[in-house]
Amino acid sequence: MAITPRVLAAGIDGTQQSTPALQHCPVGQYPITHFRRSDATMSEQGRDGGCQCGAVRYRISGEPLMSAICHCTMCRRASAAPVVAWAMFEQSQVAFDGTPKIYASSEDAQRGFCGTCGTQISFTAGFIPGLIDITVGSLDQPEAIAPQFHYWHDEHLTWAKFDDTLPRHPGFPPME
Ligand SMILES: [Zn+2]
Ligand SMILES: [Zn+2]
Repeated sequence: MAITPRVLAAGIDGTQQSTPALQHCPVGQYPITHFRRSDATMSEQGRDGGCQCGAVRYRISGEPLMSAICHCTMCRRASAAPVVAWAMFEQSQVAFDGTPKIYASSEDAQRGFCGTCGTQISFTAGFIPGLIDITVGSLDQPEAIAPQFHYWHDEHLTWAKFDDTLPRHPGFPPME
């Protein structure tokens, strides 16, 4: 059964930033049981991370529920980067030292970042209750969590090509 995103791939016209329905990032509207811990690439180390200036630090315990590269326009704008790699955890797995500043990137979604240096740290949303996505790029050892798939590939930049064979989902990945 395929998930129907609230909004199909939006036109890249620069106006969708203010569209409340664009809550599609990261993976939303999944039951927690959709993500099998055993699927996640992980290591026992490298789970600490933080922003560029060090004002916000975090420590993660346990394994990610999933990890993936998002090509959506919202992530792109928020990070001013071609793509964003996310790792999903239960909120209870993540302990912060320093409080991220929160920006409501849509009606139901919050992006956490360092108010001093601007590093994007987290994503939470009402449609993924109890879960938090952490930017893999803010990990001290980002190699420790490898992505499992790409999503919102319909919105990818044509010059942003990855030399991997991971699944590329046009929007959300299909429900298994
Ligand atoms: Zn995204
Ligand atoms: Zn900072």
